[in-house]
Amino acid sequence: MRTFVEHQRAVRELLAPLHSSLEAAEGAEVLALDAVSGPHGRVRAHGRVLAHDVIAPGDLPAFANSQMDGYAVASADLAAARPEQPVELPVGRTTAAGDPIRTHARGTASPVMTGAALPHGADAVVPVEAADPPRFRGLGGSAHDVQPGTTARFAHPVAAGTFVRAIGTDVARGAVLLPAGARLGPAQLGTLAAAGITEVAVRRRITVLLLSTGHELRAAGAPLEPGQIHDANTPMLRAALDEAGALVRDTLTPDDPEAVVDALEGSAGLVDLVITTGGVSAGAFEVVRDALAARGVEFVSVAIQPGGPQGLGRVILSPGTAGVPVVTFPGNPVSALVSFELFLRPVLRAFAGLAPDRPRAHLKLAHAVNSPIGKHQVRRGVIDGDGAVEVGAPSSHLLHAYANATVLVHLPVGIDALPAGALVDVWRIDD
Ligand code: AMP
Ligand code: MG
Repeated sequence: MRTFVEHQRAVRELLAPLHSSLEAAEGAEVLALDAVSGPHGRVRAHGRVLAHDVIAPGDLPAFANSQMDGYAVASADLAAARPEQPVELPVGRTTAAGDPIRTHARGTASPVMTGAALPHGADAVVPVEAADPPRFRGLGGSAHDVQPGTTARFAHPVAAGTFVRAIGTDVARGAVLLPAGARLGPAQLGTLAAAGITEVAVRRRITVLLLSTGHELRAAGAPLEPGQIHDANTPMLRAALDEAGALVRDTLTPDDPEAVVDALEGSAGLVDLVITTGGVSAGAFEVVRDALAARGVEFVSVAIQPGGPQGLGRVILSPGTAGVPVVTFPGNPVSALVSFELFLRPVLRAFAGLAPDRPRAHLKLAHAVNSPIGKHQVRRGVIDGDGAVEVGAPSSHLLHAYANATVLVHLPVGIDALPAGALVDVWRIDD
């Protein structure tokens, strides 16, 4: 029997070539930074991963500007300023944000607003609150400049550069604005927009064939004959894959090995990975095992519960190709989703530039639990009002309980019983 960590590693290794091909930017797409509304609206780059380094096309800030509403001054003009002997300067020309770069006359104080270009000749800004009077007089509304003869007093010297946002201090022209592999969230899109960039090359998303097997399965909403059930795995794993940044094609097949092989062959060249559910355990009609054991998929028993029967391998779908990686999960919905959490979610999320791991914590048990000593058991639990974990029943058909859980509780190999209050490792799933 394989440990859960060994199987995790095996899945990671199976998918490593796919990761390399994405990193090599094969199939990169050029997408718009932001939505363009209307019939020609384009797919946005939001949430995608940069295919290449993006180099800053210019300095940011592009021009020295004020960090405060205040007075641009030549610092040398205030060198002698003391509280008991303030320096009084005539108020010069005003620069508002968006105005062109003006010229500052030595021996004056030029009003500048936050984001306004520092006038040539000034090298520091004194916030208006630090001047006397501590507000702009005669400015505002449509008034851009004060009455001639207006002055402002300054009680302290100011160092050159004070409250000046110097050219290139956010990023210098030619520097890496964002590296290949960066995920484009709000801050990344903002910095690209600030740099004047409107489209970027992003890594393609992987496409997964999701194959649910079972004679008993009908699509959600379809009428059921006695003995039939609705297919929960397809919508469940489609959502899980979507959250991991993958695109999904799905197929439901009966317990017929030929149907499974047909579905795989029909997806040749269209998918990067195949995930199957069902048909891998010890029953008489193990369709996935029957269809794929002879085609390069290895079926193994992993020391976990739920999700013990697992399979993985590379199946050649068309002659002369490298084969598509196939990962097979058991059919019980809880087993399938726990398998996804343990084996695929971290790998796929890393492909998509997302944090691979669930947030983890050590929490106290609200009550005693038992666990099979030879298996790594993953239970579903709820954090109670005291921050302790109430652990649910272990059976792998309890999907409703999973849907109401806030944590996965890990009870590793070697543990057969834990008392109330013992610390357990949990993964938070309530994000
Ligand atoms: P299997 O792994 O095919 O032996 O299935 C194990 C259990 O999971 C059986 O009770 C199946 O009916 C159930 N099951 C398998 N696939 C699904 C599915 N897609 N949705 C809901 N239940 C399923
Ligand atoms: Mg089945």
